[in-house]
Amino acid sequence: MSRLDVFINRMVSQRVCLDFAVAETKGMQGPVFELGLGNGRTFDHMREKMPEREVFVFERKVESNPASTPDPSMTILGDVRETLPAALARFGSTATLIHADLGGHNLEKNDQFARLVSPLIEPLLGIGGLMVSSDKMYFDELNPLPTPPGSVEGRCFVYRRDA
Ligand code: SAM
Repeated sequence: MSRLDVFINRMVSQRVCLDFAVAETKGMQGPVFELGLGNGRTFDHMREKMPEREVFVFERKVESNPASTPDPSMTILGDVRETLPAALARFGSTATLIHADLGGHNLEKNDQFARLVSPLIEPLLGIGGLMVSSDKMYFDELNPLPTPPGSVEGRCFVYRRDA
């Protein structure tokens, strides 16, 4: 499989999983978190699909396309290793949807980072909330869901807090 195929599968899966999570959490009260702004494509998709919900973006350095740059009041600037614990103090376990796309090209490093941030992300999600990630996560309390039809296995991961 070419790198182009892998990239396309990741993008298609990201959209399918995000749309699934948006639908599953519709009507829930609580913030939405985007971890890793990058170019701002997934942020733009999320705010388009959830205009009624607050989407906070966690990013260490904002370099997004101006057309998909969040308002500074909705941007939580800094390293997620510090901003996620601070967000727990600020929001408690109230997030309804968390999307994480923090990785780069090095799969081994991405996996190590996913292990490191999983316990920081886990307590932020409220009951019934969904977490969507480009990397496999390492949660104790969140349950993995089968990825929705149209997504490619291993290219996106979905978890839910049931209790
Ligand atoms: N989903 C985005 C999009 O659609 O454009 C792409 C996100 S990009 C792959 C990953 C982003 O995560 C980068 O902007 C990077 O700066 C950010 N990031 C990586 N590690 C981080 C960390 N420890 N703290 C904060 N942001 C981080």
